[in-house]
Amino acid sequence: MSVDVAIDCWQGLRKLVGDAAKVHFTGGEPFLYWEHLVDILREGKRQNLGLIDLIETNGFWASDEKIVRDRLKVLDDLGMRRLKVSCDPFHQEFVDIENVRTLVEVGRDLLGSERVQVRWEEYLGQSSDKLSNDGQTDVFVSSAKDYPVRFTGNAAGSLADNFADKAVDSFAGCDCSSAFLGAKGVHVDPHGNVFSGTCSGIIIGNVRDKPIDQMWKDFSPEANELIEILFTSGPAGLLKKATAMGYSAKAEYASKCHLCTDLRKFFIEKGEFKAAIGPVDCYS
Ligand code: SF4
Repeated sequence: MSVDVAIDCWQGLRKLVGDAAKVHFTGGEPFLYWEHLVDILREGKRQNLGLIDLIETNGFWASDEKIVRDRLKVLDDLGMRRLKVSCDPFHQEFVDIENVRTLVEVGRDLLGSERVQVRWEEYLGQSSDKLSNDGQTDVFVSSAKDYPVRFTGNAAGSLADNFADKAVDSFAGCDCSSAFLGAKGVHVDPHGNVFSGTCSGIIIGNVRDKPIDQMWKDFSPEANELIEILFTSGPAGLLKKATAMGYSAKAEYASKCHLCTDLRKFFIEKGEFKAAIGPVDCYS
């Protein structure tokens, strides 16, 4: 995400809610672009945009205590309130748990325990063998049972299939109006696409076309066919169209979001609802 787009979003939130604006930097993994992250935060500070509520990382970069200390000092100086560290079997398949431990230890020493959140603390003390072993599916399923996930994005793939126990008919009448209007926030992807809450891959608008505060004021579900259907009938409302286009429903789904994501994967392949379903990164 360019510095300009990030700052525009930040300013838009402040226009809407002033000091109550809570900005989170998350990913993907923002520390893949350390210098760029710092550029955005510096510009935010220069423009007096307020504190950054939270920066999230999986800690892959925290192999050296000095680097960790130096970087956290920079973030502290630039206005980060809290650091959130991902720690679970899904991340530990790729990230060395030792780096996560170093990050948490140094972070708590430097910033104080209350400013370093680990998601989830339980895994921090576990051995890498236990977190990432041959029975990986079992570890994933067990984790998703202990810490329920929303079955969107990659979680709507094979992981969701392990939890599929609801017939498609059971989602009739489950609309998504409260998911859109009651979401705690929005996500903005690197291309500037805005998603409501955790409904990743359903594009409400793009901050390059319209400021985020104006987007919120103008939001109208009727303006977009896909969003209108989800808003009034939920993903079950999309089934008829999908079936007519050749979609073959699964016997059971884990949740309405599982069904929704599966349908959107189908539609994006068919080039349907192009304005609202994307970017392809969310569906690959
Ligand atoms: S079913 Fe789709 S639109 Fe509704 S909350 Fe889930 S992901 Fe969002």
